Amino acid sequence: MRRLPRSTLLAGALLFGAFSIAAWTIDRALEKRILAQARSEVALQLGLYASTISVMLDRRLERVSAVAAFVESMTSIDDIDRRFPMFAERMMHGGAGIRSIELQRSGIIDWVYPAMRAPEVLHGDARRIFGPAVAEQIAATLKTDRTTVAGPIPNWLGGLGIVARRAIRSRVAGAPDLVSVVVHLDSLLLAASTDARIENLTLVVLDRAGRVVSPLDGTPPADAIRAEVEVPDGKWEVMGAPRDGWAAAVATSLVPLRVAIAMIVLLMSAVAFGVLSGRSRLEAAVHDRTRELNTANRELQSEIEERAKAEERLRAQEEQLLQSQKVATIGAMAGSVAHDFNNFLTAIIGFGSEAHERASELEVSPSSEGARQIRADLDEVLRAAEYASALTQQLLAFSRRGVVQTTPCDVGRITTEAAPLLRRLLGPLVQLETRVTEQPVFVYADREQLVQVLLNLAVNARDAMPDGGRLSIAIEECVTNERPAGDTEAAPGPYVRIVVSDTGSGMTPEVLSRVFEPFFTTKSVGKGTGLGLATVVGIVRRAHGFIEVASELGQGTEFRVHLPLFSTPIASATS
Ligand code: ADP
Ligand code: MG
Repeated sequence: MRRLPRSTLLAGALLFGAFSIAAWTIDRALEKRILAQARSEVALQLGLYASTISVMLDRRLERVSAVAAFVESMTSIDDIDRRFPMFAERMMHGGAGIRSIELQRSGIIDWVYPAMRAPEVLHGDARRIFGPAVAEQIAATLKTDRTTVAGPIPNWLGGLGIVARRAIRSRVAGAPDLVSVVVHLDSLLLAASTDARIENLTLVVLDRAGRVVSPLDGTPPADAIRAEVEVPDGKWEVMGAPRDGWAAAVATSLVPLRVAIAMIVLLMSAVAFGVLSGRSRLEAAVHDRTRELNTANRELQSEIEERAKAEERLRAQEEQLLQSQKVATIGAMAGSVAHDFNNFLTAIIGFGSEAHERASELEVSPSSEGARQIRADLDEVLRAAEYASALTQQLLAFSRRGVVQTTPCDVGRITTEAAPLLRRLLGPLVQLETRVTEQPVFVYADREQLVQVLLNLAVNARDAMPDGGRLSIAIEECVTNERPAGDTEAAPGPYVRIVVSDTGSGMTPEVLSRVFEPFFTTKSVGKGTGLGLATVVGIVRRAHGFIEVASELGQGTEFRVHLPLFSTPIASATS
């Protein structure tokens, strides 16, 4: 697995951070919404609770009218005594929170239900027992046909009570004139909360004076929801808040959401990271591909260069082929001309020599002066013919008409043997130096042709040193590692090198570039044929060698003839 670049990791971390911030913002907003939702839910519950309280309270207090009607329907005190407990029992039943029902006459409580609670109040004066405020209420109630409600007030049986009172208009003598129904507030509030299915809220009920009347925890939480409770004589208030606080209430819905958000953030980060690392893998792939392309491009480039070189070589070869074809054509033509010309020359020289003989015989006669003149003329004719003959020989050599006999020959020995001939040719003004290897160095060539190479080079050197100089011929062994420039036939390998250098006039670059051309000469007619070096090149080529030349005007010239070293000469062929 490829290691991810630092930039990809950084981008991934940044994205994760950005997602986290977004998630946090979403979480904040959600929390607000959920809190608001929870509050409105609590408000609904409280509303329900408040109306349950008022309905329950109303229903219980209303029973005071039922009791009053019941008593009014009785025709005797006996009836009242007998039937009141049963009726009161029915009234209390199914009305949780009614603590007691009392009947009194002129303030004296003569009937109480349940009776077991009676001893302390039975036959007592309510105005005395409950104090002046109650006495006042009783007096006021007796004057009206309406129900009056008092409380909450501490009940003599404990807790807070609400008391509904109503006057009884009975015609029975000694019948009660007032009924009181006492509602136990604690029980009622509890029953209301059960009815309203309120379980998880802290509730506080305040009466119209703002006093806490609920039996439960008396401190309303600061962030509680409030609702009004309608009661017969005004408005109470109920306050509520989640028992474990709002945070806990919100948590139940918020926690799963938070988990979901966290998972989404992780998922998005993972996806983003996947995309990023994919992109970086893509970049790496592109990079690799680019490198491959560059390599391919370089290879292509070098191939193109290689091809250009090959084409250049081919072109050089073609040029050389053309050149050698031209040379061969010229050679063939020159050869055939020279052959015929040689035959004529044979005749000319033959007849010329005969005429010369005859003229010698005539010299004793009186007219010898004319004969001597004829002999002198014939001398000239013969000299010209000799020259022409030499020229044709050269032409024949150039056109390879001569008989060639290739054998392994020791170049050192040939040079040493040719030295006297060369000295005669060079004349007294030119000094000849030869330097040959101790060991024989063999090449596979025609001996006569090798001598001709030396002769041609020596004659040229002599012509370049009319005022004398030095010609040195050195034989060396050498190895060429590369193909000689412009030469396609000579292969790299061991060679025998014949270095022919003179101290003559040298050549201009123009002359130097054309020296090997057939018939190129800088010499006057009768002196140069322009075939010397062309012949040398022909011989050297045929022996699979090559030739180099270096020349500087006024300094001298050096020809370096290379012939492949023949390493295993046949002993008998060395002579
Ligand atoms: P030729 O000797 O008949 O002129 P070659 O082919 O032998 O023909 O030589 C061609 C020409 O090369 C000569 O005319 C001469 O200008 C020049 N040349 C050859 N060898 C030498 C040399 N050693 N020094 C100066 N010039 C030379
Ligand atoms: Mg020459």
